[in-house]
Amino acid sequence: MSADPRRQVPRTDTLLADPRLAAAGERLGRALVKGAVQRVQQRVRAGEVAPDAAVDAVVAELPGTASSLRPVLNATGVVVHTNLGRAPLSDAAAEAIAAATGTTDVELDLRTGRRGPRGEAAIAALLAAVPAAEAAIVVNNCAAALALVATALGGELVIARGELVEIGDGFRIPELLESTGARLREVGTTNRVTGADYRGALGPDTGAVLKVHPSNFVVRGFTRAVEVDELAAVLAGTGVPLVADVGSGLLRPHPVLPDEPDLQTTLAAGADLVLASGDKLLGGPQAGLVLGRAELVQRLRRHPLYRALRVDKTTLAALEATLRGPVPPVQQMLAADVEGLRARARALAARLSGAGIDAVAVDAESRVGGGGAPEHPLPGAAVSLPREFAEPLRLGARPVVGYVEDDRTLLNLRSVLPTADDALADAVLEVAGTWT
Ligand SMILES: *Cc1c(COP(=O)(O)O)cnc(C)c1O
Repeated sequence: MSADPRRQVPRTDTLLADPRLAAAGERLGRALVKGAVQRVQQRVRAGEVAPDAAVDAVVAELPGTASSLRPVLNATGVVVHTNLGRAPLSDAAAEAIAAATGTTDVELDLRTGRRGPRGEAAIAALLAAVPAAEAAIVVNNCAAALALVATALGGELVIARGELVEIGDGFRIPELLESTGARLREVGTTNRVTGADYRGALGPDTGAVLKVHPSNFVVRGFTRAVEVDELAAVLAGTGVPLVADVGSGLLRPHPVLPDEPDLQTTLAAGADLVLASGDKLLGGPQAGLVLGRAELVQRLRRHPLYRALRVDKTTLAALEATLRGPVPPVQQMLAADVEGLRARARALAARLSGAGIDAVAVDAESRVGGGGAPEHPLPGAAVSLPREFAEPLRLGARPVVGYVEDDRTLLNLRSVLPTADDALADAVLEVAGTWT
């Protein structure tokens, strides 16, 4: 008797009652598990899955978490990769987030039982890291910090033409500033601006002078910029605040990135406010950091727009842990020395070659990314594989994103922590395993 295969498709209720799937329902929610059950039922109907293997197939279909965002191994060599979520957080920051997810004392003083200043500890950690700042606030991202500054200080914002920059994916800083209703008073030319240009532009409507670090390009040749110290001297006694958007979020000068501005130095040079991202070179959560003179920070905090831009408890937790905790991954990756990277590439290549894969260690440049240090490639090393690896590695159970260069797939180790080398090797072995 040849049974109709449809009769053999296990019923939804039966599958959902299986202890493993019931447990998954508790963890992931019934709807997600039911979706996986229905997909597997289709495959049973199509004869692709045996009816008695249905539960196993559903378990294999289930996502790791109730979010569809997948952890990805970043082997692009771009340390801060915007499409891959920028800075990977430290374990300490991840734990701090987990601890803060429930109800927390983010805005309550447990000693008195009264309302306390929100995110006080994260702010204190920022001020400890940047002693030149009197006060700080944290908003959603650096774009939000710019919008808040333009809204609260606005009127007319004086800015050099050479600093009207596009940061990426159509994000143009002048358009953002103008969207707040602030007017831009452009000074200088694309390549040159002087202190006298700035001086000549100041007037009764001037809200602030804004300096924006052109993070992702450089202008060379017949150029002149006005640095923060020179500009501070121009503005001395005028009462016009000098706001510097440094973008990258370096707290202090970094030996590997001599051209990147940092918060401490920029404030010490005379900026009244500095703005930066939390998830670029600082290596923390997405955030916009605003540090500087107490009176100006207070003005921003009191502005109604601040309420729409402030960050949540988990961001504050992650930021504090990034600042106070162990060296975050981004900083470790920047500091990795070439010899160490080469040794890891050789070890990985040897392991993969041992499994019959055409893998060799090669030197490969890497980048800071996130729009930072465009002229500053970092030396490094990669594992070079046949080109055909690129796509299946991206589509694997633990996706790996590398890049293709000279018809080879390169897995650049600058953006991979040494603790992830095993996972990287496993992913390559898994892909190769499906071909043999
Ligand atoms: C990256 C960058 C921004 C935007 O930062 P977000 O945190 O992504 O909003 C703004 N200004 C500069 C100079 C940047 O480099």
